[in-house]
Amino acid sequence: MTQTSKPPRIVIVGAGTAGLNLATRLSHKFGRHGKAEITLVDENLSHMWKPSLHEFAAGTKGFDEEISLLEHSHRNDYSFRLGRFTGIDREKKLVHLQAVNDPANRPLAPKRALPYDILVLAIGSRSNDFGTPGVAENCMMLDTPAQAKRLQAELLNLFLRFQTGALCTRDDKLELTIIGAGATGVELAAELREAAGQFARNGIHKVRRPDAVTIRVLEAAPRVLGALPENISMKVERHLRELHIDVHCGAKVARIEPGSVHLADGTEFTSNLTVWAAGVRAPEVIGQLEGFETGSLGRLKVRPTLQTLADDQIYALGDCADCPWPAKETSLPPRAQVATQQAEFMERQIAAQLAGKPLKPFSYADHGSLVAISNEGAVGSLMGKAIGTITIEGWLARRAYRSLHFLHRKSVLGTWRATLSSLIGGASKRIRPKLKLH
Ligand SMILES: Cc1cc2nc3c(=O)[nH]c(=O)nc-3n(C[C@H](O)[C@H](O)[C@H](O)COP(=O)(O)OP(=O)(O)OC[C@H]3O[C@@H](n4cnc5c(N)ncnc54)[C@H](O)[C@@H]3O)c2cc1C
Repeated sequence: MTQTSKPPRIVIVGAGTAGLNLATRLSHKFGRHGKAEITLVDENLSHMWKPSLHEFAAGTKGFDEEISLLEHSHRNDYSFRLGRFTGIDREKKLVHLQAVNDPANRPLAPKRALPYDILVLAIGSRSNDFGTPGVAENCMMLDTPAQAKRLQAELLNLFLRFQTGALCTRDDKLELTIIGAGATGVELAAELREAAGQFARNGIHKVRRPDAVTIRVLEAAPRVLGALPENISMKVERHLRELHIDVHCGAKVARIEPGSVHLADGTEFTSNLTVWAAGVRAPEVIGQLEGFETGSLGRLKVRPTLQTLADDQIYALGDCADCPWPAKETSLPPRAQVATQQAEFMERQIAAQLAGKPLKPFSYADHGSLVAISNEGAVGSLMGKAIGTITIEGWLARRAYRSLHFLHRKSVLGTWRATLSSLIGGASKRIRPKLKLH
């Protein structure tokens, strides 16, 4: 990097699991002491922990855990810019941002370009519809807080319409279909069963009948949670069946129509609400970046140092990066654990770059996987040098699952604020309704 008297400008695009964590770390390390100018860009004004989106969508968790990026940047030593990332001018070292409008189409932030010395892309992933006809028109998705809010409103309206008779359904039943039995699909199915129970207890009497709400999961692969070990997959499937969730594996969806889902083998399912959760891919803008190479799932190829192949000053991390995983001779999976470890690593990497020291390769430590099964707890494995691999389930697994969210909040809010908000959250859970009913 060229030596200038001005502090280097570090721009991070994407305030998700990786981006917000990194911005917080860099602001403490450099921003606070004026050693670098840190700017965080996002197309949304707030941050939510993405692995909890299914709980917000089902209404079993309130939206009060959102972190305002304006307030967070003010508390920490970085600048927040609202904008949608659309491209990079590598010669002029500019990040292009598209204008962001409010729902009435009035501009909130104009189209503009931000200068950078170091650029970090952390824009996450989007659902992958694999070109399946009818998905965009007839399915809900769970990629963003806005989609989670829409799904929660849609679900509430569906149950209300069913109760009031405004909606007549086949066999007088509600049928909810989730396509994809990865972590998102499985966790959402369990959460929807919990929500249906809460609706029944809170005035939606028509769903008190045990068979009034069908929840089905359709998965093209031979088993649920294909990316996880088989013993976890079997345990999770057993839990789902105990919750009266219909699991159909080997069910390849050919098209979605309004009110129905059609499989390649000709089977048709009626569906009053269909959610597409069958895998992810990088946002389209990644494929449109000139001169950059993309790899699996359309992600930006990076070297083990997390630098893009095209440009030493541009890094990518989290779900949008295709990072080698030498231990498994593949790429790292799009998971919160990877995004978090990469954010922690990037703080040290950028420090090394600014100090003119050699960069190191990122090394991923797989600590296992946990899948939440609503109030039933969670199932998963923990991995570590001292313990090897152990399978855990129930209360202990649920605690471990919750601790991941707490650790994230601790890294972005600090120990004191994260602990306090967790205590307040725990207390308010006891007094507020178990389901969002408005
Ligand atoms: C329902 C659900 C459950 C999950 N459960 C688990 C789990 O149990 N365990 C696990 O490891 N992983 C889980 N995941 C995956 C996990 O959430 C992701 O791997 C992780 O959030 C990736 O972090 P990230 O920072 O790369 O992206 P994200 O956290 O998705 O953040 C991306 C950010 O970029 C912003 N952005 C996107 N495009 C643009 C643009 N063009 N311009 C500006 N800003 C942009 C977004 O607004 C967002 O703030 C789950 C995901 C979902 C949806």
